[in-house]
Amino acid sequence: MANIGYIQVVRHCNHFCGFCSNPTTPYVHTFDSMKVLVDDFVARDYFGVILTGGEPTLHPELPEIAGYARDQGLHVRMITNGWRMADPDFAKQMADAGLQHMHVSVYSHKPEVEAILRGLPKTLGRSEAAVANAVNNGIAVNINCVINRLNADHLHETIAWWIERHPQVRHFVWNNLDPSMGRAEVNQDQFLHRLRDFEWSLAEACRLLEDSGRTFRVEKVPLCYMTDFAWASTETRKIVKGEERIVHFLDDKQTVRQTTWGHRYADACAKCTVQPICGGLFDKGDAYDPAELTPVFVDMDGIVERIITDPADPSYALRSLPVWKANFAQRQGVAKEEAQRQQAQEQSGQRQPSGDLKVGQVTADGLRLFNRKRRIEGKQAERHGVRLETDRVTRQGTVDS
Ligand code: SF4
Repeated sequence: MANIGYIQVVRHCNHFCGFCSNPTTPYVHTFDSMKVLVDDFVARDYFGVILTGGEPTLHPELPEIAGYARDQGLHVRMITNGWRMADPDFAKQMADAGLQHMHVSVYSHKPEVEAILRGLPKTLGRSEAAVANAVNNGIAVNINCVINRLNADHLHETIAWWIERHPQVRHFVWNNLDPSMGRAEVNQDQFLHRLRDFEWSLAEACRLLEDSGRTFRVEKVPLCYMTDFAWASTETRKIVKGEERIVHFLDDKQTVRQTTWGHRYADACAKCTVQPICGGLFDKGDAYDPAELTPVFVDMDGIVERIITDPADPSYALRSLPVWKANFAQRQGVAKEEAQRQQAQEQSGQRQPSGDLKVGQVTADGLRLFNRKRRIEGKQAERHGVRLETDRVTRQGTVDS
């Protein structure tokens, strides 16, 4: 199995997305505090690490930690807005340090939409330059896109644009908006959509990619809204293959180890043939409407078989359907117990245990930077007509809001 872990190396950013789910906190990382987390992934036999944020390229020791992770044998990736990677020297520095794979977040090919979503003009051109620089330095490139109200109707047009302008980009990832955290939580009235708003456009976009021989993944979208491409669902693939994911959040959540992938289901889901491998409705905050879920009656085995025999993903060992079925039945029993335990924890307000790993720390400098950033972001929020995320109480005490 190819588990990949996430480390948020910073939480501030040089863009200002009104639906950011991981905005600024007072926590900071040093090389040493990141190194401990890399070592933990190595000890767990993880395949790779994704350096993320905030905007990870703003951490002054990013090349060093990327190089260290690569030296330990991890596949090194980064999720970025591409702003700094548009600088050819920085892109080369990251490639030389060991970065192998870059996920650039781009939400729309329409500059005016991208500017609203990013809170900054002229980001699209820099994203394109980042793609070119990465490719020139041998770094593989994915395009990541958060599905939201402003781009839900033209996902397919954006894909056609990428195919035409950047044929070297071969993999795309959509994340449906997470309305439960950060600025996304407080700006649902501006950025949240209904599932049916993107259904046709997403299907068309997937078709374009499949027809052109490209690959893609879709996260946080229930299978009834992507039935023809259910094998591309991130949650479904993880359920089928029994994969886990660890995210080291640079905030009070600290470490979250996700081993179950089912979110929320409607009564209608009980009749659905793909329910055992569907992640359901991603919603921790009653934002999406469960009434939008409709059971489908397609052959689940066909979806599973496509995932476990995927020639582009040879990491999964049980490549015959009968063997998978026996293994899955056994795993489902264990997963049910785990889900009940997690639900009990959530209801009692406890977090999943994070072991003894400490994810960053709140320092006097970190607090000063945070307070300064909050003031700047307060003005940005006012200018863009969005709300600033609710401030949180840190482990170290209350920070001003
Ligand atoms: S009806 Fe429920 S189980 Fe079936 S695909 Fe939709 S969300 Fe998944």
